[in-house]
Amino acid sequence: MKIDMPRLPYAEDALEPVISKQTINFHYGKHLQNYVNTTNSLVEGTALEGKSVEEIVKSAPEGPVYNNAGQTLNHSLYFLQFMPQADNNEPKGRVADAINAAFGSFGEFKERFTKAAATLFGSGWAWLSQDRDGRLVITQEANGDNPLRGGLNPLLGIDVWEHAYYLDFQNRRADHLTAIWSIINWEVVEDRMK
Ligand code: MN
Repeated sequence: MKIDMPRLPYAEDALEPVISKQTINFHYGKHLQNYVNTTNSLVEGTALEGKSVEEIVKSAPEGPVYNNAGQTLNHSLYFLQFMPQADNNEPKGRVADAINAAFGSFGEFKERFTKAAATLFGSGWAWLSQDRDGRLVITQEANGDNPLRGGLNPLLGIDVWEHAYYLDFQNRRADHLTAIWSIINWEVVEDRMK
């Protein structure tokens, strides 16, 4: 069993102007494809061959296999959590309840999450996850780390490696982070909750 590319549930230009078709072509078509291919080739003939990407992320020792599997998982969650731009896009139901319980309001959550993503030094990710008690937490993860490694259930991840936004926003990471809320598919996030 090889690790597969996730299939995009939208057209390559469907996330414009927040994420351009050109960025999808590079980020999904080149970067993610390379992480998937590299993970598959590195685990071939090892004890990790045939394991799911989640199992590899949980158990692989630090090094190339873990780094590539981490980025495969990160980007698979990332690309499946978006939808075409919508005005006043906010979580509803269970996600909204959990966000309000943990952070007070959606506005307060966005502020704290954006700060985590904006202040992450270098390359990495900001994540919203559930802890073992089902409570929501925000974490900063360096490079290709995924919250799963620390026993959390990842729900929403924002990539702040420069390749995620440089073609569309150049150095303006904060502007990218402001725009990205309009394309989050909160129903996908809810489906990931335990
Ligand atoms: Mn990326």
